[in-house]
Amino acid sequence: MMTGWWMDAALAGVFGLLLGSFLNVVIYRLPKMMEHEWAAECAQFTGQPVADAPPFSLMRPRSACRQCGHQIRAWENVPVLSFLALRGRCSACATPIGLRYPAVELATGALFAFCAWRWGLTLTAAAWCVYSAALLALALIDWDTTLLPDGITQPLAWAGLLAAALQWIPVPLTDALFGAVAGYLSLWLVYHAFKLLTGKEGMGYGDFKLFAALGAWFGWQALVPLILMASVIGAVVGIALKFASGLREGGYVPFGPFLALAGLTGMVFGPQAILRAVGL
Ligand SMILES: [Zn+2]
Repeated sequence: MMTGWWMDAALAGVFGLLLGSFLNVVIYRLPKMMEHEWAAECAQFTGQPVADAPPFSLMRPRSACRQCGHQIRAWENVPVLSFLALRGRCSACATPIGLRYPAVELATGALFAFCAWRWGLTLTAAAWCVYSAALLALALIDWDTTLLPDGITQPLAWAGLLAAALQWIPVPLTDALFGAVAGYLSLWLVYHAFKLLTGKEGMGYGDFKLFAALGAWFGWQALVPLILMASVIGAVVGIALKFASGLREGGYVPFGPFLALAGLTGMVFGPQAILRAVGL
């Protein structure tokens, strides 16, 4: 249908806004749930009393203001619009809510709208929507906590292989498979070489799994452009943070957000466009 593309994009965009609202919950709660699980496992080993039940799951309890505990009502939970209506403040205690929330919702909406515009309302678009949502969540969780949860990186890699096998994405299955293996191994090698030479850990196992996932979604041919792009963005941001004195304690900048950004750029422009941009 000739006139349908903007309807598709609008529909997917609205769905993206709603899912973005859920991503905000995942980004905040998932690392805390993981930490709670580790604490419980440690307690089991050391024989200490096990900590209380986890404070929340992804579904329960309902979101509340972190300052005053005011429970977010349904009308206060409409993506972007509620933030505007509340002028960015909690309705009970007027604590600023943070631009991050509407920004994540808008970004998810924009990515979903892009996928529907580019591929129509197809399984291909659905696959790339899942991919974008996963990368967005990973980027922000890693930025906040320097963790890349296995619960997202591993399904993302399997989903890439599956999408290739079902031909939802135009990557031959063997290219996707070699992409996942080479993606993991290449960063694993860099990590151990770096550790051997400097005694420091330059990244974590989550980065290997994330890069493996990108290899699955784009095929092994895209690994070099993706890592080049992630490294360049990471270096620029790292230097900028250093000058702005925005580095956290220890000067550590997580690599995952830049891998994720490269992965999203690869989706929008195609990984080969990245190589052309850097003149290769
Ligand atoms: Zn409040």
